[in-house]
Amino acid sequence: MRRIDFRSDTVTKPSDAMRKVMADALVGDDVFGEDPTVNALEKEVAQYFGKEAALFCPSGTQTNQIAIAVHCRPGDEVICAEDAHIYMYEGGGIARNAGASVRLLKGNRGRITANEVESAIMDADNVHFPLTRLVALEDTMNRGGGAIYDFQEVINISTVCKKYNLPLHLDGARVFNALIENGVQPVDYAAPFESISICLSKGLGAPVGSLLLGNKDFIRQARRVRKVFGGGMRQAGIIAAGALYAFRENRERLKVDHENARRIEECLTQLSEVVEVMPVQTNIVVAKMQTTDSAQRFLAYLMNENILAMPFGAGAIRLVTHLDISEQDMIYTLEKITSFE
Ligand SMILES: *Cc1c(COP(=O)(O)O)cnc(C)c1O
Repeated sequence: MRRIDFRSDTVTKPSDAMRKVMADALVGDDVFGEDPTVNALEKEVAQYFGKEAALFCPSGTQTNQIAIAVHCRPGDEVICAEDAHIYMYEGGGIARNAGASVRLLKGNRGRITANEVESAIMDADNVHFPLTRLVALEDTMNRGGGAIYDFQEVINISTVCKKYNLPLHLDGARVFNALIENGVQPVDYAAPFESISICLSKGLGAPVGSLLLGNKDFIRQARRVRKVFGGGMRQAGIIAAGALYAFRENRERLKVDHENARRIEECLTQLSEVVEVMPVQTNIVVAKMQTTDSAQRFLAYLMNENILAMPFGAGAIRLVTHLDISEQDMIYTLEKITSFE
């Protein structure tokens, strides 16, 4: 029996068509800058976002960590949400890789505001304080249940950053999910950010790969840091081909994932043991159950029906929709959720 896997949108497997372009990819040594497929991917995605350059890396953790290390010196401070992936899920990399510290903001479902940012910026003339050096946003927000930023707030934050001469970084692991919903043009959306990290291995369904975007000088520095972090890959065109295919073919269909997530939300809301479902905005459903025990019982019940979901902190569970969830899987899953008692 096949397992229906809602644990993450990273679990997708390359389709036959994707595997074909990967098998046929032109390759070269990317550390020498000679892999034509990597170069094509970097160029196409940079253009799509109106940025000068891009850098292909093995993971989104690496693209974020490289960006932070380029922007910050040891002792500097990064402003981000307390739920931010760069802080919560990257193994303390901000401290370890860049030697930087963090200033954590409460945020609303992980979305921080211009006012919060401005009041967290340190007085650079006071020698007691760490030097505020970077502001980082995440869109969509993973721990915030796939919440999307209001683009006006992004602009407001960027205005504050400009006032204090601070770069703004975007952890855009799921930025394509945000762009499908917010209706903002990619070039406009990218403009307020000095650096952007995107993942091809999440909802777009590539097996491996992330990109860091920025201006030429930033990417030149990032390339050096990627090598230091051990992320310089050789005939990386094999995986870049899958990433390019994912970028070209799988953006539009994210709508289906969002619709499926809303169907799951609707179904979960009906269950007596579900206290609250974070209003679904994209492809992530986070539900708070009455107790940790009821969450565990529900997850075990689903598992027994060959449906996988994740525990997500005290009494909460997370389901993520993606391109390997078929309509048949959805019908089966909704039926099983409804029958839980
Ligand atoms: C998945 C993810 C990343 C990158 O994760 P990797 O597994 O290292 O590719 C970064 N930020 C967010 C918000 C993510 O969800």
